[in-house]
Amino acid sequence: MILPSGNIVTRSMPIYPSSHFTWGEATKNCTRHLQDLVINDRLIATAKQIEKNIVMTAMAMDEYREILGNRPIRVTSWYRPAHINARVGGSKYSRHQYGDAVDWKSDYLSPRQIKKILEANHHGGGYKAYYGFTHTDWRGERARW
Ligand SMILES: [Zn+2]
Repeated sequence: MILPSGNIVTRSMPIYPSSHFTWGEATKNCTRHLQDLVINDRLIATAKQIEKNIVMTAMAMDEYREILGNRPIRVTSWYRPAHINARVGGSKYSRHQYGDAVDWKSDYLSPRQIKKILEANHHGGGYKAYYGFTHTDWRGERARW
């Protein structure tokens, strides 16, 4: 797929050179093209900004991957364009639309272990333990719900 920056990526390509996370994981196997986020006729984030958000989020996720014991993390949902977010019942201002939210799970750590680590480390964004997966986002301020 072609990114807003003009870079061409494949689903197996790391989001940045040494990342453990791929463009395929961020964009559902390159089926979700990055697009401007418009809510109530207002431009909230450009596609280019969303691309940057995804790169920044991959860096943060790589840090957590390391803190969580350097074991594989399974991404279940990352970027969602607004129409897909609406279809899956996401909230109107869901950070998945900005590219800076990831739902993921670990086969190696219990939800309790993940919670302990994230509560100690995740200050600049949202964190929520759902049944069966963890939501983490980088909205720029602490959020729990
Ligand atoms: Zn989520």
